Amino acid sequence: MVQSSVLGFPRMGALRDLKKANEAYWADKLSQADLLAEGKRLRLAHWKIQKDAGVDIIPSNDFSFYDHVLDHIQLFNAVPERYTSQKLSPLDEYFAMGRGHQKGGVDVPALEMVKWFDSNYHYVKPTLQDNQTFSLAEDPKPVREFLEAKEAGFQTRPVLLGPVSFLALGKADRGSSVDPITLLDKLVPVYVQLLKALKAAGAESVQIDEPVLVFDLRPEVKSAFKPAYEAFAAEGSAIPSLVVATYFGDIVHNFDVLPAFSQVQGLHVDLVRNPEQLEPVLKQLGPSQILSAGVVDGRNIWKNNFQKSLNLLQTAVKALGPERVIVATSSSLLHTPHTLASEKKLPADVYEWFSFACEKVKEVAILAKAVTAPETVRAELDANAAAMKARAESTRTNDPKVKERQAQVTDAMHHRKSAFETRYAQQRKHLNLPLFPTTTIGSFPQTSEIRVQRNKFTKGEITEQEYDDFIKKEIDLAIQIQDELGLDVYVHGEPERNDMVQYFGERLQGYVFTTHAWVQSYGSRCVRPPIIVGDISRPAPMTVKESKYAASVSKKPMKGMLTGPVTCLRWSFPRDDVHQSVQCQQLALALRDEVIDLEKNGIFVIQVDEPALREGLPLRKGPERDAYLKWAVNSFKLATAGVEDSTQIHSHFCYSEFQDFFHAIAALDADVLSIENSKSDAKLLKVFIDEAYPRHIGPGVYDIHSPRVPPESEFKQRIQEMLQYLRPEQLWINPDCGLKTRKWDEVKGALTHMVNAAKYFREQY
Ligand code: GLN
Ligand code: ZN
Repeated sequence: MVQSSVLGFPRMGALRDLKKANEAYWADKLSQADLLAEGKRLRLAHWKIQKDAGVDIIPSNDFSFYDHVLDHIQLFNAVPERYTSQKLSPLDEYFAMGRGHQKGGVDVPALEMVKWFDSNYHYVKPTLQDNQTFSLAEDPKPVREFLEAKEAGFQTRPVLLGPVSFLALGKADRGSSVDPITLLDKLVPVYVQLLKALKAAGAESVQIDEPVLVFDLRPEVKSAFKPAYEAFAAEGSAIPSLVVATYFGDIVHNFDVLPAFSQVQGLHVDLVRNPEQLEPVLKQLGPSQILSAGVVDGRNIWKNNFQKSLNLLQTAVKALGPERVIVATSSSLLHTPHTLASEKKLPADVYEWFSFACEKVKEVAILAKAVTAPETVRAELDANAAAMKARAESTRTNDPKVKERQAQVTDAMHHRKSAFETRYAQQRKHLNLPLFPTTTIGSFPQTSEIRVQRNKFTKGEITEQEYDDFIKKEIDLAIQIQDELGLDVYVHGEPERNDMVQYFGERLQGYVFTTHAWVQSYGSRCVRPPIIVGDISRPAPMTVKESKYAASVSKKPMKGMLTGPVTCLRWSFPRDDVHQSVQCQQLALALRDEVIDLEKNGIFVIQVDEPALREGLPLRKGPERDAYLKWAVNSFKLATAGVEDSTQIHSHFCYSEFQDFFHAIAALDADVLSIENSKSDAKLLKVFIDEAYPRHIGPGVYDIHSPRVPPESEFKQRIQEMLQYLRPEQLWINPDCGLKTRKWDEVKGALTHMVNAAKYFREQY
């Protein structure tokens, strides 16, 4: 029989229960025992959902309090000394690595957190030392959670991140120069010990994720698979059988690695992203190896097209026989919301187009039956076909007016009137900024008061007038605080925005939005991506009211704040029936109108955030990446190029790794770029000199993901380092990103130090 399997289940729970519990624990409002109990309750509930849906292979160790890569750092005792030396409880040490710890005399920043492949999930980067050692943690989490499941009557398949991916996704710590992959020999024995413990606990099979196989790999990384997996093979039946899982891309270009897996039980591939890899992969499998066919999308919310999936599955079954095929989710369902059943406000027709995690696990189970015994699931197959047909024929998806406007886009619409030098001369006159101008990235703390008022407004408990007045008061407060801090370019603070993408989605035609469809972004932070269902247009201005009000009560230049077209696309659930470049251009045209409206209303600094530009980058070099960069850059330019020379366009990215697509960033032609930099080496800025980048840059001077308030000396040191790579006239001083997740006292503390440091350097130059 064809089996069904799930690679991982979302951790948060139906009502973001885990977020709430974590945050209560961090605020000392929940005990450690109660937090652990909540974790257990969620795991049991999630196993039950999958079992009830009829899933054959249910994962364990996919749960995590913060991040699964961080779990592995602790699992292998690869915790840097600056954390272990604090003698915190294991759980607090874990959170200290994830989010920093500044409490009870301890002050230690978080480890670096970066995007997980091309998703909007962030993982904590393993940070390794020159003399790194590994050992298995006491009471290893995968074993503990396997036994917990077993005791509750669930036979699970533990999920581990494989040794090559763990190392390849890591980096040398500051002050170390080790190439993490060279640590493989030291790490593999710890995996062996862990696998043996899992076997002893009763695990028959383990899902071992090696997602780095979808990258272009350095030879050192490529050749690491063989010794690692040969060491596992040498253990024979002393360890569980292994299914090596890859996702978010194809592995055809890395087929020369596959002999390393000749002894594993099977291979999982992503057939949603790359269905064309099915045939070549089938040819590569050994005579008894299993194919885990990832046909149910772990990254989107669209109902599975059963007919399409069955075509793939039947090809696999024909080649391998039913015993050797597993129907699976394409990746972990971590990137999908919990359940569609919570959505009470979606239009009825649209509701039928979607499928979230709880529904996807059912799809996997139905498909497994449908491959060999379609008559047993006839009703489900018919209902699915009807839903596919209804969506394809719906008038919601198609707006001729939008198509007409897209047809009229010209090349000239992508270019500013003059080159940067000319623009800058006018902007200087107009804005009159000091050297090392200070600014923030947009949002200020989203306090519980803001959330309460927004909720009341959404529920109709207060009038629009009352809500508007409240927002005005918040803007007044933000401006008063910026006056006190002495910043140079102000922001209104974004109190009216629930989320930087959702807010725009709710104001655009072509979107639907949900009430409960939260997806984990990092740690306890979740986002609720709006869903693009049809052609996009802007019925009315989206941000002008707030920005205009803020400018009217502010003495300093007010920066208007928009989310860029690529980010709106990437942080929404996109359509799967129209190419993303088309959706992106529609967004760009809507934003272009907004940018021009802001300028008309007296906003002469406009920041268009594109933090998602990089994550959309196809994971491998080549034509697909080139094509993406072209349409993504063009969309940004189309959105921003409609203004006068004297209007200053800013853009912002929350990552520091842009060396590999520097030219695309330069091509955006933004007057000022703010980027994340505080947790990485200032040396990364060297590319700006090397490439003679003419425009202005604000590399983040402190980490906003952590509640920690860095001392003034840290700001000065950071700015000093930056001045090694940037011209003084080029340098802006700002945080890494927006401050919405922080508390006001943290913000005031950090920004006071930041502004003082900027003033200090102003006096030097
Ligand atoms: N303007 C946004 C903010 O400050 C930018 C957020 C982001 O880049 N992720 O919140
Ligand atoms: Zn950011």
